[in-house]
Amino acid sequence: MPFTKNFIPLIKNGQNLPPLPSISDIIHLYKLSAIRQLAQNFILDMNLTRKIVKQAGNLKGSHVCEIGPGPGGITRAILENNINELAVIEKDKRFLPSLQILADSVTSETKMSIYHADILKFQMDSIFPQNVATSWSETDSNINIIGNLPFNISLPLLLRWLREMDARNDLFALGRVKMTLTFQKEIAERMIALPGSNQRSRLSVITQSLAHVDHKFTFLGKACVPQPQVDVGVVNIHPKEKPTYEMSFDIFHKVVTSIFNFRQKFCKRGVENLFPLPVKDEMTHEIFHKLPHIHPSTPIFKLENEHFNDIAHAYLEIVQRIPGLVDYDYRQPKSQQHLWAQNMF
Ligand code: SAM
Repeated sequence: MPFTKNFIPLIKNGQNLPPLPSISDIIHLYKLSAIRQLAQNFILDMNLTRKIVKQAGNLKGSHVCEIGPGPGGITRAILENNINELAVIEKDKRFLPSLQILADSVTSETKMSIYHADILKFQMDSIFPQNVATSWSETDSNINIIGNLPFNISLPLLLRWLREMDARNDLFALGRVKMTLTFQKEIAERMIALPGSNQRSRLSVITQSLAHVDHKFTFLGKACVPQPQVDVGVVNIHPKEKPTYEMSFDIFHKVVTSIFNFRQKFCKRGVENLFPLPVKDEMTHEIFHKLPHIHPSTPIFKLENEHFNDIAHAYLEIVQRIPGLVDYDYRQPKSQQHLWAQNMF
């Protein structure tokens, strides 16, 4: 055998499968130097990959989708759980041969499929059969997404999934799919941040409005090869049956994002961002008049998730009266804001 380092046995049904080359052997054997543009930071320590996978809970019999398997450390830890089916999605074709070794080594009760694809463009709804779907009224789905995500796409990916969760599209068409994912530690902290916290951001409000979020643990960046500049948070995301807001994702997202442009300022300043200059004062006044329980001088980072729902509701009432307002974007230059408002009213 050409491998030089330790062989790692894959444990299946409590038994060891034929020994496989260690993750570091795989990296040496296939000359898998990390590509910075793909945010490749590999975890070689199987104790850590097992700890990450354990956060997903009991995986026995479940259908798992792994994002960015790379050399396969997390993949192996997933396969040790007597799962029914694993689909892995990897953009870098250099990893395909070593992933195929894993697919060939699993027992006949487990199916493993390898997709060579960019997760940002990949539709996940067809990877598992329709008969594994569960209703959204059921708390637990039989499907999990797991991944040590590439940091450079973790935020756009999370926002895309939150949007899909809202629409019950893509993999979320199959039920309340649970996710166990890694993020830069600061992003993990923002996702769980409560009102008043220094980390409170638009991400906290949007994520918590759609899902139960739990920051399970943090590990040091030096556990990865090569070492990223940041530490890593492992987060569980479990979709709520219904979002806590009562309008479209786009409206809620717009309201939360516009307000959080000034997170340290009073919320009146954030709400003003929703309206163009000539009507800013009048419409901001209308919003707070409708919501006497929200004081205009409350700092934005102290607003509760429900407050954002209330503000978005009041905003929606105005937008229904003046539909063109919904296209207003606070980043427009002031000169254009006057012109824009003239055309609208
Ligand atoms: N799971 C491995 C581990 O924990 O050691 C690798 C994790 S590494 C942080 C991220 C992985 O995602 C790499 O294998 C990288 O090639 C892959 N990747 C990066 N961008 C991707 C994309 N857009 N779609 C799918 N995979 C991607």
